[in-house]
Amino acid sequence: MYFSELQKLDKQYIANTYNRMGLAAQSGFGAACADISGRKYIDFSSGIGVNSLGFTDKDWVEAVKEQLDKLGHISNLYYTQPQVALAKALCERTGMSRVFFANSGAEANEGAIKTARKYSSDKYGEGRHEIITLVNSFHGRTVTTLAATGQEAFHKHFGPFPEGFVYAKANDIADLSARVSGKTCAVMIECIQGEGGVVPLDKGFIEAVSEICAEKDILLITDEVQTGVGRTGRFLCGQHFGLKPDIVTLAKGLGGGLPIGAVLFGEKTKDTLGFGDHATTFGGNPVICAGAVRVVESIDGKLLDDVVEKGRYIGERLLKMRGVKSVSGKGLMLGIELAEPLASGEVAAECLKNGLVILTAKHKLRMLPPLNIGKKEIDTGLDILESVLCEILDRPEETAKEIK
Ligand code: PLP
Repeated sequence: MYFSELQKLDKQYIANTYNRMGLAAQSGFGAACADISGRKYIDFSSGIGVNSLGFTDKDWVEAVKEQLDKLGHISNLYYTQPQVALAKALCERTGMSRVFFANSGAEANEGAIKTARKYSSDKYGEGRHEIITLVNSFHGRTVTTLAATGQEAFHKHFGPFPEGFVYAKANDIADLSARVSGKTCAVMIECIQGEGGVVPLDKGFIEAVSEICAEKDILLITDEVQTGVGRTGRFLCGQHFGLKPDIVTLAKGLGGGLPIGAVLFGEKTKDTLGFGDHATTFGGNPVICAGAVRVVESIDGKLLDDVVEKGRYIGERLLKMRGVKSVSGKGLMLGIELAEPLASGEVAAECLKNGLVILTAKHKLRMLPPLNIGKKEIDTGLDILESVLCEILDRPEETAKEIK
């Protein structure tokens, strides 16, 4: 099928909720993929932080296929080995105590929100249901997680939204403290705001939030949907700060390319949800869990050290490029602030035309490459980015205006 035909059918039959870019991906290997005409691209996106081990990782594919040949699905009314193996591995890697499996990041956050409210109503009665989230956060697209998301742009069209979310300024402990009240049951944070533009929270702020929560029996929820599963060079981003949250949510990179979400409960919350309090048909599907076990096993100490080292190397190269103002983030979750007149959307589109898949987040470029990306792919991708930046910066002014 030709690209133009695919594009036409996509527009006709698929809800137009995505402003798709000009790549029709057909196959992939490691940190590179090919389109339907066989053209190769370096991938600095990993499907927005999903393909932790790149495309078609051999061990991951083998684990998924092996389980698919045995048992594709059975209801959560019954036991399966891959689900238990994954839950055990996650608890051992994170120090958390129990897991509920969902299907996405938003669903994992819904589970976290329900748990926080139930913990509080069981212990303190009704009315202590407010959850403090941060301005510029992102927690998902369901009606409740949109309400949890601290950005006005997401609070339109779909109301009425559930009440009980209060937004505090990130990295401003005085503002957050002022919003804590007798109604507060939880604080939910992303240690690095991903969709918000790869904005890291300060260590001091994170520590102070954690202290306030512990002191007042307010639950600390860390949304590690984007930062978790090795992305920042620790299994959880919170581990950089010695954080001990009461609830952690995971999704994206956990499945290695298949849909999964997970709510991890600490000692305080491990018994909060009982029979019938929460459920899902597909959550914890054995095929997906078998692949996820392989992902978790692959993210060992060596791989995490490599993530830190690669992140450092990329950051250093980026900062030497013309047009790069600053670099934010940790490990292989990086935001690139561009100097005027560069615009992230235009740069990403030009990179794609030149064989590099790279993301944006707000006004920044965003890099979430596979955790096991090789040095050669890193260099090839960065060379493409550098030449795109120079090409745009060197354009005669008239041409630049015309293109805009
Ligand atoms: N939380 C964070 C921090 C995210 O970055 C995202 C997605 O980008 C979500 C939640 C929602 O995840 P999903 O798209 O899997 O529902």
